[in-house]
Amino acid sequence: MRDQGIEQKDSRGDAAPDDAATKDTANRNTANRNTATSDTAIEDIAPEDIAEARLRTRRGVFRAVAFRDPVDGHEHMALVRGDVRGRERVLVRMHSECMTGDIFGATRCECGDQLDTALDAIAREGAGVLVYLRGHEGRGIGLVAKVRTHILQDDQGLDTVDSATAIGLPVDVRDYGPAARVLRHLAVRSVRLLSNNPVKVDALESYGVPVASRVPLLVPVSDDNVRYLTAKRDRLGHDLPQLDELDELGQLDELGGLGDAQVGEVHG
Ligand SMILES: [Zn+2]
Repeated sequence: MRDQGIEQKDSRGDAAPDDAATKDTANRNTANRNTATSDTAIEDIAPEDIAEARLRTRRGVFRAVAFRDPVDGHEHMALVRGDVRGRERVLVRMHSECMTGDIFGATRCECGDQLDTALDAIAREGAGVLVYLRGHEGRGIGLVAKVRTHILQDDQGLDTVDSATAIGLPVDVRDYGPAARVLRHLAVRSVRLLSNNPVKVDALESYGVPVASRVPLLVPVSDDNVRYLTAKRDRLGHDLPQLDELDELGQLDELGGLGDAQVGEVHG
């Protein structure tokens, strides 16, 4: 059932080897300005702030496009599979950095599972982009502050929202401009966005990247992540049908997980 709902595959053949993969992308950066879909005033990434190379991974070969964003100054990375240039409805994940979840496999949030599931989906589709966004720890409050919120969550039972506001920090200050800028550099014309968060759709579109549809990225509910997922749904407006289902069955208190993580198309 892992492919359920992904209704479209582009009619391309196997991705062609990328001969230019290790070249500096300065020339293409200039050319892209004429092919991007939007004419918004979004800044370009400077040629000296972007480099790309082939990256062989356990999911096969990606193009690793590293860039320093002209606005936030962070170094981010886009992992690109297949030929996305000039394409519509490219499968895209904008993944917010989470050291504890992504690297150390922490289970209190579902970030690591979402990262794996998104990369699996892109690899299975044969084309897509995962933008790994730095500076997004704890929805933008930073790593130290995030860990500080964990203390409040563990000791006082606060959720992910109240634990931030309790120490005077904003709930979400992430900016998705870097993702929009690299998608523009890659000449992606429109995206199918892997996310459960409607706010991300609006954020990306506000930067002039059309979002053709949102593709849910559903991680199984577990004893460890149920509080976090519930807060995301009830406090932050995320669409989490796997949680709703358990809720309707009155089973949120007796969790055993729902099997493999899934992706599926929502609309459009
Ligand atoms: Zn996380």
